[in-house]
Amino acid sequence: MSDDCCAVNLTPDETPKTVEMSFALKTGTGLCPACRTKGKKVDTITVKAMLNASLRDISPTGQYYFCKTPDCATVYFFADGSHSFTKDQLREPVHQKEPAAETVPVCYCFGHTPASIRAEIEATGESTVVDDVNTGIKAGQCACEVRNPQGSCCLGNVRAVMKEITQAQEMKTPA
Ligand SMILES: [Zn+2]
Repeated sequence: MSDDCCAVNLTPDETPKTVEMSFALKTGTGLCPACRTKGKKVDTITVKAMLNASLRDISPTGQYYFCKTPDCATVYFFADGSHSFTKDQLREPVHQKEPAAETVPVCYCFGHTPASIRAEIEATGESTVVDDVNTGIKAGQCACEVRNPQGSCCLGNVRAVMKEITQAQEMKTPA
């Protein structure tokens, strides 16, 4: 046996590259390839549910991320940056991408929009939207992973919309 036979099998470049690649496939940088902002991990089932294009472009394994930057058209991107999906390729308009659109849902399971939240606050001075969403969650009626483009519960976004509307009202009506 000579040293040469081992050298042939070693291919020193291969191992580190493979490890690096599979690491990138699993986690990636998490940075949106379009706006370079850190995305939020999202289950592949959410991407599958949201796309209006053929699912043949979907990678069945690996991590997808959700980009919530308002002025970035990319909604989902794959961990290794090899492909991404823009808002035009989705079945639903995305609340985070249309922050000024009053009729784009903020709660996708129970159909609350900034307009409906505002209408209730203007009519009654308060909002029951959080209670309604919580009641739905407790009843097992929510399906955030397949209805909400961000793939998770909407309550944080709902509270942010409520706060914005309430603050705008307070500025209009001096105490
Ligand atoms: Zn982005």
